[in-house]
Amino acid sequence: MVAETEHSVFDEAADQVIELGNRLADKDPQVHLWDIADGLLAGVIQYWLYTRQPCEDPDCEECAPVNTAERRLAALLQDAQRLAAESEYYHSPNDINVGRA
Ligand SMILES: [Zn+2]
Repeated sequence: MVAETEHSVFDEAADQVIELGNRLADKDPQVHLWDIADGLLAGVIQYWLYTRQPCEDPDCEECAPVNTAERRLAALLQDAQRLAAESEYYHSPNDINVGRA
């Protein structure tokens, strides 16, 4: 089942990035978690862009959504927006626009 395999690879990749962040944080309790997260994000973006390089066929339909730098960035931002909105941490109880009774 291709879909199941892709799903589990997706989950495993996401889980391992989080585990790496936790490992780095455990190694140095002084480190700022934002620095770890920024480094993880930089590496993930690098990997994502690496995988989205279009092939040599300028008319390739599969590569059409990512066949310019601007299209790749738009696709990346669209994915980032969707994944952020799906995250359990998207909303915080401390958000300043959360109503307090
Ligand atoms: Zn292609």
